[in-house]
Amino acid sequence: MNNKKVSLNDILERVSKIEARLDEIAPISKRKLPSKKEQIAQIQSELEVWSQKFPSTDIEFELAKMLDWLKATNKRKKDYRAFFRNWLRKSTNSVGAEPTISHSYVYSCGNNKEECIDEISNFKDMSYYCTKCNAIKKIIRVTKS
Ligand SMILES: [Zn+2]
Repeated sequence: MNNKKVSLNDILERVSKIEARLDEIAPISKRKLPSKKEQIAQIQSELEVWSQKFPSTDIEFELAKMLDWLKATNKRKKDYRAFFRNWLRKSTNSVGAEPTISHSYVYSCGNNKEECIDEISNFKDMSYYCTKCNAIKKIIRVTKS
């Protein structure tokens, strides 16, 4: 009986060792990704989303550039979307970190009394209060900066 128990533990240990070795050879975590062609098609179908994430970048142009580069260097990637994302990050950085367009919101009580001061903020959901005329300031102007 005791012997059986030991051998069971022994088996379990062997199994875990085999599993560890298998994981080394072919990791379970290795994601099965679609082919390059499918992945590129996927990226192309998401151009809108990409341009929202990288508003100052010409996505189609960058994708063509990346594909050219892959072809020229004969490089293969596992995850083309991840590679493209990094590619875009680098391309936006290399341009000199173009600032994304931000807005300035001018808040005013609208009463324009002598001591009323307008507030300027980059956020459109601020709450300013004019202590002079006890009024909540509203956005009266939006400027792009
Ligand atoms: Zn005021």
